Order: sequence, then structure tokens, then C-alpha cells
Amino acid sequence: MGLVVQKYGGSSVADAEGIKRVAKRIVEAKKNGHQVVVVVSAMGDTTDELIDLAEQVSPMPAGREFDMLLTAGERISMALLAMAIKNLGHEAQSFTGSQAGVITDSVHNKARIIDVTPGRIRESLEQGNIAIVAGFQGVSQDKKDITTLGRGGSDTTAVALAAALDAEVCEIYTDVDGVFTADPRVVKKAKKIDWISFEDMLELAASGSKVLLHRCVEYARRYNIPIHVRSSFSGLQGTWVSSEPIEQGDKKVEQAIISGVAHDTSEAKITVVGVPDKPGEAAAIFRTISDAEINIDMIVQNVSAASTGLTDISFTLPKAEGRKAIDALEKNKHGIGFDSLRYDDQIGKISLVGAGMKTNPGVTADFFTALSDAGVNIELISTSEIRISVVTRADDVNEAVRAVHTAFGLDSDSDEAVVYGGTGR
Ligand code: ASP
Ligand code: MG
Repeated sequence: MGLVVQKYGGSSVADAEGIKRVAKRIVEAKKNGHQVVVVVSAMGDTTDELIDLAEQVSPMPAGREFDMLLTAGERISMALLAMAIKNLGHEAQSFTGSQAGVITDSVHNKARIIDVTPGRIRESLEQGNIAIVAGFQGVSQDKKDITTLGRGGSDTTAVALAAALDAEVCEIYTDVDGVFTADPRVVKKAKKIDWISFEDMLELAASGSKVLLHRCVEYARRYNIPIHVRSSFSGLQGTWVSSEPIEQGDKKVEQAIISGVAHDTSEAKITVVGVPDKPGEAAAIFRTISDAEINIDMIVQNVSAASTGLTDISFTLPKAEGRKAIDALEKNKHGIGFDSLRYDDQIGKISLVGAGMKTNPGVTADFFTALSDAGVNIELISTSEIRISVVTRADDVNEAVRAVHTAFGLDSDSDEAVVYGGTGR
């Protein structure tokens, strides 16, 4: 029996009862003969509460202190979990990210892991302990300051540790039974996916699916670590995310044509109105945006009106970056040369994802037909080899997701999507 890394999200350890329930599960894995490393998130909404608290004492807290504060959330849960396990008669030791050897760059609030040196974890396992590691945190290589990996970063900690320890599997325990064909909070008839490839999972995560973070899946693909997403509230098999289809009984799970429908209402749209239709204009606009360190998503350029020689360029970006982008463009208005800017944050994005699209030419037409039958107007379109995305009014998003889900035959016969927890992680 090999080594397993198990990660428990905030909703799984929301209170003392939750911690005791999770401790029993961990002890089960140990009793089955595994070496067990556990990565744990902060209890319930602790991270949000700490952020509120920081904002009350300072409108713009320094990154170093902010990270120091937020990592306290995970320290609380790791220590309590180790105590609960000891209470069940098993040995456990807790470690901060830094103690576990999670080494990052020094970008506070969204640090990247650059190395994992889990010597102390190995030692602890060899002594027969269950090792509990605080998720979402590390220590910067150059300054030796405590860093955090960005919201939801515990998943990345788990995969990174699994890679460094050469684990058999990284189990991500959450408050739903796995990855679904759509967000079960929106589509009651969403179906649990048994297996999904890293590629399709990456597209779903990039398109707004929140069950796994993009960075975590990217990491797992790079080191080829199979992820098993499952609920800590039920004993059911969850979803396997890996490079090769899993075996079920004596048959392989087939690659689905369509893996699922994702949606995202966290973006806004900026339209640059009255741009001269000549070389260098798009370059000037997007240089301005990239100099402001803003990531954009979709871009659309309209045909220019023959009489004026002017065109409009629209693009989408995270709402949180909207102000910064508008300010940067206004500042360069003269250099770029445009009439005005329009800002719209009442948009939503719906994406259909599946590797089977490559070889099934009808998929795009069926997608647009489903949207039109539902009376949903399309504002922007973008595609990749295995994804089609459209932007619509935000109010239309839930309806559109359900319509597309039904049109592609993804609805399950029963209501199998159970949401056990509260806040979604
Ligand atoms: N506690 C952190 C958060 O809420 C990290 C995590 O849950 O993965 O974002
Ligand atoms: Mg959390």
C-alpha cells in the first residue's frame, strides 16, 4: 500500500463535529495500510472573516502581514485535526506550510510554489505518524517570509505535496460528490463524471468551474498525479482526473464527447469605441492593458463602418480589474486614439467543454440552437479546439446553462447532485 495525500476543504472541517468526522476518515485510510498525509483548509468561512478583520484595521494591509494573518486559519484546523486523531488512539503531527517544505516565490497573496522539500514530512511518516499540513501557504525562497497561494490554494498544496512525495493519488475531499457536468447548484440534474482528462478539466476550471482550481490541475498534469475529487460527507466514489481513463470493473470508462457546461459571472466587458481601422491599434490597446498587469479573456473586433473607417473592439476581463483597465486606457487615450469607453459588468459566460468536439462538427451548431431556443442572445463568441464559449446577459446565464445541458443529453434521470456543505468549498 502506498502513500496517499488527502485534502479536506473548509466546509468539511467547518466545526468540531466536522473535524471529528474527518479524523475518523483519515484513521480509516491509515488502518487500510496507507501512509497518510493530510492537507487541510481553514474552518468554514474563517479566511473571509480574517480578511474582513484586516480591512477593518487598514484599508490596504501590507502583503506580508496579510499573509501572516490568513495562514493562521489553516494552523487552527491542522492542530485541532491532529488532536482529534490522537484522541482516536493514532499518532499525528501537524506542520505549517513552511515546516512541510513548501517553498514559493515572494508574491504575497498569490505566491507560486517553486519547490517542495518535504524532509520533515517523510521523517514523521517513517515514525508512523499521520502528517497534517496547513494548506494554502508556504515560505518565500529569498526573504523567508510567510506567503499564501491565493484563494482556494490548499488544493495546489495537496497536489504539490503528492508530487514531491510520489503519492499514489491525491484525494480532494469537498462538499459535493465529485466533478459534475454542470454546477449542481444551478442544474439539479447535473451528472457526476466518473473520469475526466486533465485537458478537459483544465478547460472547465478556466471557464469558471469552481470544484478544482486551474493551477492545481495544471500542477497535477505536469507531474502526472491522479486526482480523486470526492465528498467527505458520503462514502461514494467521486471523479478521477487523470491522463488515462480509469478501469471500472473490467471495462474502461469512455472519453465523453462533451464533458460539461461551465459558467462564470465574475467577468466584465469593456468596449473601446471609435478605434481607427489601421495597423497597430489593437497592439496599442492591449499593450496598455498588459502593462497594467491585467489578464484578459475574450476579444472581439467589429467590422469597421466604411464611411468613417472606425471600428469597435470589445474584450472581457475579471470585474475586479475593471477600474484599473479603464484608468489605464483613459490615460493613453491620446496615444491610442479612440472616441470613448463602455464598461458593462452585467455579463455572464457559458462554455461547453469536451475533447469530442474536435471530431463532431455538429456540436457548435447544436450549442447555438440550444441558446436560441432558450431565447438567449449571444454577445461574444470564442472557441478553442475543445471548448466553445459565449458571453450573454448575466440574467440569462442560469437558464442558458440548463438549456445547453439538456440539449447535449447531459441531464441525469435522477437528482444525483447533492450539495452537502454550505459555501461551496
Ligand atoms: N482557506 C483558503 C481559502 O479559503 C484556502 C483554501 O480553502 O484552499 O481560500
Ligand atoms: Mg476555504
